[in-house]
Amino acid sequence: MAGNVYAYTIGDTLYLNITNRCTNDCVFCIRRTKEGVCYYDLWLEKEPSLDELLEAAGDVRRYREVVFCGYGEPLIRIDLVVEAARALQSQGVPVRINTNGQAGLYHGRNIAAELAGLIDVVSISLNAADSGQYATLCQPQQGEKAFPAILEFAGQCKKYIPQVILSVVRWPGVDIDGCREIARTLDVELRVREPDGTFTSS
Ligand code: SF4
Repeated sequence: MAGNVYAYTIGDTLYLNITNRCTNDCVFCIRRTKEGVCYYDLWLEKEPSLDELLEAAGDVRRYREVVFCGYGEPLIRIDLVVEAARALQSQGVPVRINTNGQAGLYHGRNIAAELAGLIDVVSISLNAADSGQYATLCQPQQGEKAFPAILEFAGQCKKYIPQVILSVVRWPGVDIDGCREIARTLDVELRVREPDGTFTSS
């Protein structure tokens, strides 16, 4: 049963869970394979307001980093992310977003620009080296429009966010070398994640 876990810790990092909505339905999504993350049940009965989120986060100065992550795509709630990131950064803690990179396509505007000065690191799930493979693995609502939109978003993030990371899950048939080439072209770091969530190479 869901318990509205809006903030949870793993090690010295605080993770924020602000929505279960997502524009993808990835075949490797943790929502399909596990009941939770580190024993946290992250299914929400109600998405948090700004006040509810900040109350759940508490005093964030004790954490190394705060990450918008969740069980869904945080940038679907761009307005909340902007307001919360502003409040968190004012406490001096670095802020990261883990995203599927489709926010520009979803909202129809330059979301990276709206994050300027508020986010320190953005980690974008690339997950494939071309549109067809991405559509097969991630099953985006917008079909083959999604992948070029992710590349566009990553390029925009380079202009506005200090650190941009692409990630790829090591999954059968995924062209890791092709992903590496895309990262090289965009001049960003690539991290390779195992299906169990651990990172093994970059
Ligand atoms: S983008 Fe993330 S939350 Fe959305 S379906 Fe894929 S793995 Fe799950």
